[in-house]
Amino acid sequence: MFDDLRDLYQEIILDHGRKPRNFRRLDGADRTARGDNPMCGDRMELEVKLAPDGSIADAAFQGRGCAISMASGSLMTEVVKGKTQAQAKALSDSFRALAMTGTCPECGADLAEEMERLTPLSGVHEFPSRVKCATLAWHTLNAALDGAKEASSE
Ligand code: ZN
Repeated sequence: MFDDLRDLYQEIILDHGRKPRNFRRLDGADRTARGDNPMCGDRMELEVKLAPDGSIADAAFQGRGCAISMASGSLMTEVVKGKTQAQAKALSDSFRALAMTGTCPECGADLAEEMERLTPLSGVHEFPSRVKCATLAWHTLNAALDGAKEASSE
């Protein structure tokens, strides 16, 4: 990876980690789930509001953890807004592949724009212990959409 691209990605992660977007409570959330990554001490509570057609009208989270987990929660809540639940699950699968391997050959063109926004976190694949920090938000989203209350990174 080019150094300047790596710097840009790091800057994006630090910015989202320090000032996470959608870091708030949702009034009248339809789905909630807690996520826990005991390896690092990251915890989050995710709230999702569904539109009448079942798509994701809004998503917000609160919690505490390392910059990567907070940045991932921030980026995740931004990209899933307005998506159908099926699209959100597809993004979740694609993001996990990206975090574990650094690329996502299976990622469809229909979600290319969203995957590009998540790419700054792809560098975690070089640090296996941080992969769980990056995927916690997505595990928590899956739990919320499946109606489970708890998600663990384990
Ligand atoms: Zn972490």
